[in-house]
Amino acid sequence: MRGRKKGRGCDGKRKKTYGTKRSEAAMAMRPCDATSHHHHHTTTSSSSFPMAAAAAAGSGGSDRGMLRSARVAVIGAGAAGLAAARELRREGHAAVVFERAGDVGGTWIYEEAREGGHSSMYASLRTNLPREVMGFLDFPFVATPGSSSVDARRFPRHEEVLRYIQEFARRFDLYGLVRFRTEVTAVVVTTSTRWLVRWRSTTSTSGEQEQEEEEEFDAVVVCNGHYTEPRVADIPGVDSWPGKQMHSHSYRVPEPFRDEVVVIIGAKNSGGDISREIAGVAKEVHMVNRASPASTCERLPGYHNLWLRSMVERAEPDGSVVFRDGSSVRAHVILHCTGYKYSFPFLLLQQQLQLLQVDDNRIHPLYKHVFVPQVAPNLAFIGLPFKVIPFPLVELQSCWVAAALSGRIRLPSEEEMMEEVGARYSELQAMGWPQRHTHCLKHNQFDYDDWLAEQCGHGGVEEWRKAMYDAASNKKVQCPETYREEWDDHHLLEQAYNDFQTYINPPATHY
Ligand SMILES: Cc1cc2nc3c(=O)[nH]c(=O)nc-3n(C[C@H](O)[C@H](O)[C@H](O)COP(=O)(O)OP(=O)(O)OC[C@H]3O[C@@H](n4cnc5c(N)ncnc54)[C@H](O)[C@@H]3O)c2cc1C
Repeated sequence: MRGRKKGRGCDGKRKKTYGTKRSEAAMAMRPCDATSHHHHHTTTSSSSFPMAAAAAAGSGGSDRGMLRSARVAVIGAGAAGLAAARELRREGHAAVVFERAGDVGGTWIYEEAREGGHSSMYASLRTNLPREVMGFLDFPFVATPGSSSVDARRFPRHEEVLRYIQEFARRFDLYGLVRFRTEVTAVVVTTSTRWLVRWRSTTSTSGEQEQEEEEEFDAVVVCNGHYTEPRVADIPGVDSWPGKQMHSHSYRVPEPFRDEVVVIIGAKNSGGDISREIAGVAKEVHMVNRASPASTCERLPGYHNLWLRSMVERAEPDGSVVFRDGSSVRAHVILHCTGYKYSFPFLLLQQQLQLLQVDDNRIHPLYKHVFVPQVAPNLAFIGLPFKVIPFPLVELQSCWVAAALSGRIRLPSEEEMMEEVGARYSELQAMGWPQRHTHCLKHNQFDYDDWLAEQCGHGGVEEWRKAMYDAASNKKVQCPETYREEWDDHHLLEQAYNDFQTYINPPATHY
């Protein structure tokens, strides 16, 4: 039997001992060990990973000696892929992480805007969540004195988040699991437990030298991020409008907008921040909020050239952009800060088994935003929900996936999962939510986190983190200009740092 009851982050209450890290680090030092070690105790080898056995494994949560080890392809080495790799290894699986970039970090790797680029980070971006809230559950995002921090502020710049993610990968020795500069081009399901992963590797030095190869896995975990494929607002007449259109995905610095009139569609995180930044150099900035009443036309306090407007009604060949109240401006640029689409270009499942479809940003069918019922648990998606705190969420999802793959947790039957999916759609419809918000967890992310935590016997998200998230979210709405510099949640900060003491500065012997 594997030492599951002790020292594993996903067992019992979240353990605040270094035992968790010690056992993990011990495994981490022998990357292949997880599988071989595991085989002494299982009756099923990774090369035969039968669904039937998974289903027959009994109810979840209990300590059984019949856990299976799978060879799992993880697509992407951003926060989600790294969390997945870590949890898969902890559970005794062998993970291979495919990453087309040259390092870990995903969208937090800043890159110049270019065709086909992955990152949506712009040069000045600072986090919209306080670092204490953002971090992984047992690896606090702190700027301790003497650490390699590049921005110690509470809402740091993007470089600091990248530093943190890379430190996470080093700390848990995940680099060795990643195949860099390797882009997955196709995932083909042969049977629900046999997945063919095809990839193209581009060696950095020889540039164009590419080779396609394929390899078989027992399961696939998709962690490719969803802030790369732009969604743009549909504006009547825009095709014959002479100005320039772009999406926040390609926005980097304000300078190109000097003295221009810019219409920014979207007033959420990116729209709000980018509007303010561009207002520093542009002639006029008109920030459009789809939800604002038609008559909206107000200058934002503190700015002589930044206006909040109602939705755009149409664009005209003479360069005008007309708002819903009938007023118009002659604009040079329309900048869409209208979010992104889910995109899985490598999934060739559709043609084969009709397993999955993406329609109006709803990925169907997906049990709890993670599993495709027909092939669960062998195809899983980590990190799809939005309006959430991503890192803790991907951690908990990963834990759940790893345990479902080993058989430690048993999923409901395919029919039951499908019923749940249907019930959720009805619920969304009754609430009047549009289909494209299927994976939006704005109002219930913590219920979802708690549910996941309960599934895998994890302590889950701390109460201070929930309260701090709510406080920060409110503050962001009330004081969008200053919420990154001023706050009043000192009692929560104190609780957070009390909790963090367990994890900060572990003695070197624990590595
Ligand atoms: C502008 C912006 C601001 C944000 N601000 C915050 C914030 O303040 N706080 C916060 O917590 N979150 C923020 N987020 C959310 C952010 O997306 C998450 O923090 C987190 O980075 C998501 O990680 P991920 O691993 O799911 O995706 P990503 O970071 O996008 O990683 C996906 C990885 O998959 C790789 N990949 C994709 N396709 C393939 C393929 N076919 N083959 C191989 N590799 C592939 C990519 O190269 C990439 O490395 C922000 C996001 C954006 C876009």
